[in-house]
Amino acid sequence: MDSRSGRSWRILLLEDDEALREHVLLPALANYGFDARGVASISGLQEALRRESPDILILDVGLPDGDGFEVAREVRVSHPDIGIVMLTGRGATPDRVLGLALGADAYLPKPVEVDLLAATLRSLVRRLKTPDHEATAPPADVRGRPRWAPRL
Ligand code: CA
Repeated sequence: MDSRSGRSWRILLLEDDEALREHVLLPALANYGFDARGVASISGLQEALRRESPDILILDVGLPDGDGFEVAREVRVSHPDIGIVMLTGRGATPDRVLGLALGADAYLPKPVEVDLLAATLRSLVRRLKTPDHEATAPPADVRGRPRWAPRL
């Protein structure tokens, strides 16, 4: 729950591992007070984004129908106000650099520690727009997130 509005921050989780999504991450996010729901594929995410506007997207990297890095790049362009947190089992530094360069706001390695995830989300929402989606968002350049998304 956000104290300024009384409404929970909306989280959309893209994770194809059903057990992790339905039995670990979504219950944990709900426990931490987030209004979280999950999708299992990039196509499911695209459909969800046509119907709703989450505050933060949590993206797995390895997905059945594509690559989470590509999703991050596209969402950063199409929905510049959405926060992006990437989850991946790939721990190599180049991947982390790539994820951040493509527009992710944070990067967490798997296995995910849910308290670290919740803390990351809280840190991010402090920098995002007010949660009631009023037209009072500060200019992009004071929100502390890079506006550029280099093409690879
Ligand atoms: Ca996966």
